[in-house]
Amino acid sequence: MSSENVKKPVLYIVVPCYNEEACIEETVKRLQKKMKALREAEKISAKSRIVLVDDGSKDKTWELIESMPKQVIGLKLAHNSGHQNALLAGLMYVRKKCDISISMDADLQDDIDAVDGFIEQYNDGCEIVYGVRSERKTDTWFKRNTALGFYKMMNFLGVEVVYNCADYRLMSSKALNAMSEYGEVNLFLRGIVPKLGFKTGIVKYVRAERFAGESKYPLKKMLNFAWDGVTSFSIKPIRAVLGFGVVVFFVSLLIMLYSLIVKIIGNAVSGWTFTICSIWLLGGIQMISIGLIGEYIGKTYMETKRRPRYHIEKILCKD
Ligand code: UDP
Ligand code: MG
Repeated sequence: MSSENVKKPVLYIVVPCYNEEACIEETVKRLQKKMKALREAEKISAKSRIVLVDDGSKDKTWELIESMPKQVIGLKLAHNSGHQNALLAGLMYVRKKCDISISMDADLQDDIDAVDGFIEQYNDGCEIVYGVRSERKTDTWFKRNTALGFYKMMNFLGVEVVYNCADYRLMSSKALNAMSEYGEVNLFLRGIVPKLGFKTGIVKYVRAERFAGESKYPLKKMLNFAWDGVTSFSIKPIRAVLGFGVVVFFVSLLIMLYSLIVKIIGNAVSGWTFTICSIWLLGGIQMISIGLIGEYIGKTYMETKRRPRYHIEKILCKD
């Protein structure tokens, strides 16, 4: 009996929530139903919990969390730290309490039934299991294509990301402990997780539409996210600038030769347009290069500061 108990993993489901008053109750209801079924099927321990991370919501999200049953743990961040940081806060909170964690969004876009597949793969020895969208029918044309472009660009830049995987995934406590050693400020979890190694699995699911409310990822946040992903993991852009600089250098040698010949022939005055063009072209290229180098220096600067990425204001744990 006791050996059976040891085998059942303690599962913590981590859900970051930002202004999710319209979704959160239904999400918890469905998660509880799923956890009850898993408990009854003896697949998870009775100590399993749901953790809701309130990412500095301005609506009634936290009040709703406070009124939830005691199996629901609430974590309130002091201010809006962004989806990735909220998720990290939740995962780091659960890492010593659970055997396995599953992270998912609060809007029910991630199919809860995929959890069964996650646990099966964990039992087969996977430390990380990715939930991968098999199609993107419910996303808008714009979202679908920008996301697709993003994954392609990341691959082109040599950053390993799992195609079409959002942050719906299972991570064992072992994987979480490994992740906790990454101290970077510009957080892009989708790039870090594949770097951990470990045996990984994939569960495909169809992504649904948002249950209620609006997307908390406006274009500006999406672009920031993509930019973080690229500049935190790839130095290819800066190498491209270097390569470009070399090419321009050789071209300028040819131009020098050309202008010398023109001078020898005696037609030098007509070079004015050409000179102006060169000055502008080189000025532009230099500015782009300096901007890119500045971006990396900025990142280094942020990293050396070692700022805390979140401050937990309250922990609501009713048992
Ligand atoms: N989210 C968050 N902090 C933010 C923005 C979003 O915790 O600053 C949460 C949000 O509540 C949701 C998840 O991140 O649970 C994904 O956000 P959303 O569903 O709006 O993104 P989309 O699915 O539109 O990409
Ligand atoms: Mg969503």
